[in-house]
Amino acid sequence: ETSRSLNFIEHIIDEDLANGFPKEKLRFRFPPEPNGYLHIGHASSICLNFGLGLRYSAPVNLRFDDTNPAKEEQEFVDAIKKDVQWLGFEWDTECYASDYFQQLYDWAVMLIKEGKAYVDSQSSEEIAKQKGTPTEAGSNSPFRERSIKENLELFEAMKNGDFQEGQHVLRAKIDMSSSNMLMRDPILYRILHKAHHRTDTDWCIYPMYDWTHGESDYIEQVSHSLCTLEFAMHRELYDWFLNQVVDADKVRPKQREFARRNLSHTVVSKRKLLQLVEKNVVSGWDDPRMPTISGMRRRGYTPESIRNFVDTIGIAKRENVVDVSLLEFCVREHLNKIAPRVMAVLDPVKLVITNYPEGEVEWLEAENNPEDESAGNRSVPFSRELYIEQDDFKEEANRKFFRLKLGGEVRLKNGYIIKAESCTKDAEGNITEIQCTYDPKSKSGSGTEESLRKVKGTLHWVSVAHAIPAEVRLYDRLFNDATPDSHKDQDFMDFVNPNSLEIITGYVEPSLKEAQVGDIFQFQRLGYFNIEKDATPEKLIFNRTVGLRDTWGK
Ligand code: ATP
Ligand code: MG
Ligand code: MG
Repeated sequence: ETSRSLNFIEHIIDEDLANGFPKEKLRFRFPPEPNGYLHIGHASSICLNFGLGLRYSAPVNLRFDDTNPAKEEQEFVDAIKKDVQWLGFEWDTECYASDYFQQLYDWAVMLIKEGKAYVDSQSSEEIAKQKGTPTEAGSNSPFRERSIKENLELFEAMKNGDFQEGQHVLRAKIDMSSSNMLMRDPILYRILHKAHHRTDTDWCIYPMYDWTHGESDYIEQVSHSLCTLEFAMHRELYDWFLNQVVDADKVRPKQREFARRNLSHTVVSKRKLLQLVEKNVVSGWDDPRMPTISGMRRRGYTPESIRNFVDTIGIAKRENVVDVSLLEFCVREHLNKIAPRVMAVLDPVKLVITNYPEGEVEWLEAENNPEDESAGNRSVPFSRELYIEQDDFKEEANRKFFRLKLGGEVRLKNGYIIKAESCTKDAEGNITEIQCTYDPKSKSGSGTEESLRKVKGTLHWVSVAHAIPAEVRLYDRLFNDATPDSHKDQDFMDFVNPNSLEIITGYVEPSLKEAQVGDIFQFQRLGYFNIEKDATPEKLIFNRTVGLRDTWGK
């Protein structure tokens, strides 16, 4: 339990408890539609619902809202389960709206018998035309007064597959002049001749979201059904549907709404993320640039850092866009505590220590993590020829340049103080080699006077003979615009950053040879990197999870 103040949903629940709602009847659910992979927005909903479960010791269901066979797949069900578990949550019951198809059908028959539902045989265009406008009442369908007998027969024939898609729908008979457009005889069922990933071809009529959601909450005895703000107007319908079936001695679910969370420089909508996948802008749902849970996992984000981010932004009543740099801050903060430090050179230039014996190798002690004493030490090989970063050397530089310059000194991390004496250039003037001398008495940790001498800069390095080449994937924002899907006359796809992935070859210290897929490291002075899932024993591949500090826009 964190020390944060209660969010407004918790206030609502506390009030219900104070008014006598039995604590043991609290139950929540997270209700994804399995039509894509979960994204960072869903993480808010997951942490909210499962967080309530933990706070009130109440069960939380994982409910698949699977009423549209045209878009839903088992692949998505599996991915969603994996992501929720990875985030660190455990559901009480795994539920499927499709398990309630028979019950929902029976209730629809009941509505018909009570004169509260009818089969409409108009086209969807005609139905839309009669809807009216928010300020103008709609008009009744010519089929609205069909007899109960005829409605029952037609509905059963719909279910039996006697009709084509679009020929008929079942509608609730509510009020065509309601000020709430959703109450104007909403559709309960449509015909879809499509196989469902769980019920296969058992059904060719499928219930609509509104008809399904509240009744599913009721069947599962969910006490508080939390959804995003766009469903606020649906609450009246949710309640109307519940009124038709609720028993007095059962829990009556309560819908409450919270604000959708948006993240800058990306899109959080499964439909839009699907477009990125289908148009090959990314390599898949789990591309490390995607704001999906699986993409973030592959990139090296930790469940702790995502949960901490979600907790930091909290639960709101109004929508806004959260800057992605806050998420990156949370990732960095956690990785700083847990990631072992290693040395890697990503843009190498050769450095030769001319007074170091040729052929000699020394193994230097290096601390794995100054933030974690239990992380211990390792040995890194030091020799006459090293790689350092190109931009850590300049022939000449002013006094503010604390890296290496001709005539200047730096310390090599875990090693010696060196002095740059000369350098070699190619025909274009690029530096191809730096010649240095070292002070043999200055070895880090040796306790000598020379070792304690202060020099301004410390550089990371790797020994040329021991370095392992590795592919390094550097990621940038997927979109060049902070809110790519907020532009009236431009499509979000127009803002895709064409340079969001750069692949380079770097050199890493030999201790990384045994690293496993998913392992996370801090490349000292560079950032956090993890082993990419495409890596093989023959080929190391790293993803840059996040840089060491926020350099966006700098
Ligand atoms: P998408 O448009 O990405 O498909 P959705 O709301 O249709 O989003 P669902 O699978 O229905 O996706 O979402 C499951 C739950 O997660 C719902 O309760 C939904 O309100 C919530 N949710 C989805 N996106 C966000 C978001 N960006 N912020 C907070 N909660 C969200
Ligand atoms: Mg939905
Ligand atoms: Mg959706």
